[in-house]
Amino acid sequence: IDILGIETSCDETAAAVVRRFTDGSGEILSDVVLSQLDLHSAFGGVVPELAARSHVSTLDRLVEQALAESGVPLPQIDAVAVTSGPGLIGGLMVGLMTAKAIAMAANKPFLGINHLEGHALTARLTDNVTFPYLLLLVSGGHTQIVLVKGVDDYERWGTTIDDALGEAFDKTAKLLGLGYPGGPAVEQAALSGEPKRFRLPVPMRKDPRLDFSFSGLKTAVRQMAEQQAPLSQQTIADLCLAFQTSVTASIDDRIAMALERFTERFGTESKPALVVAGGVAANKAIRTTLENRASRAGFRFIAPPLNLCTDNAAMIAWAGAERLAAGLPADQLDLAPRSRWPLDQAATAVLGHGK
Ligand code: ATP
Ligand code: MG
Ligand code: FE
Repeated sequence: IDILGIETSCDETAAAVVRRFTDGSGEILSDVVLSQLDLHSAFGGVVPELAARSHVSTLDRLVEQALAESGVPLPQIDAVAVTSGPGLIGGLMVGLMTAKAIAMAANKPFLGINHLEGHALTARLTDNVTFPYLLLLVSGGHTQIVLVKGVDDYERWGTTIDDALGEAFDKTAKLLGLGYPGGPAVEQAALSGEPKRFRLPVPMRKDPRLDFSFSGLKTAVRQMAEQQAPLSQQTIADLCLAFQTSVTASIDDRIAMALERFTERFGTESKPALVVAGGVAANKAIRTTLENRASRAGFRFIAPPLNLCTDNAAMIAWAGAERLAAGLPADQLDLAPRSRWPLDQAATAVLGHGK
């Protein structure tokens, strides 16, 4: 089956066509992403109104492009899938209305997809991953540990109690005078950092809940930066390294506990997978730490290619294909966008009650 996917939940406008074969494997036929980074970078973050307007002016062209590049004309598409939450309401509405219009006009099944489900299932598109597996989602808006038991079957084991990890990178970069997005800037600066100069606390270490917390760490960096002002290049690098080291240790501690919990419940005979997704998965220190932790615990480590870790429409099309193959509903044209939508909740929202 061939699915057209659309994604407009944040600051990427994206359209893709993905094919799912009967053996459960998949192939990306086209994958177009237009990042609005330049539009928002002057503001140091995403401006919702600008994002929505930009989606309006670019989405139909991107959908045409994705269809053309895939070689599958619209009449031969089997279903239309679109992100219906969580995310910025304005952008979600643009995507939903466009997808509904296409589905109605072309008389195709229609699927509203939870953006997080897109991230969660991407590993099954790129690698041969079987249920159950453990997902660490680390992006600009989310920091979650999720047990993926099946399509539409998730348990959220932990989340952040304050900032998302990518957000913490962005805020730390900002307070140190580095650019937006902050993650790559902090990682780059940390390369020339002096390892022992600053020591920061490791948030949530050994906490029995599987949650995360990063805002205290960011405040600790701010206080150290104020003490050291004016900041030299070297001091900035040293603070970036200290921040990245603490964050990495915290992730390692949380994931070690999650892998242990997974092992108690399912064992590791089947060589289960630890999957990472989200933009922060680009960070090499974090990636290496996760890889080591996974292999020591008897898990495979799966990190989809970076363009599929960050926001894209191929993951939305794929989630649609997986849901269609699982026999889940594909006719919810009354679906409303939801700004908040935990992964373990069903998509019950209908127009007018989409909060
Ligand atoms: P969401 O997908 O949750 O809606 P988003 O679109 O902001 O949010 P992504 O596009 O997946 O998230 O990722 C962007 C985030 O990843 C930014 O916060 C950015 O700073 C962070 N990031 C990117 N590269 C790195 C890196 N090398 N190290 C750390 N963080 C990084
Ligand atoms: Mg993004
Ligand atoms: Fe995302």
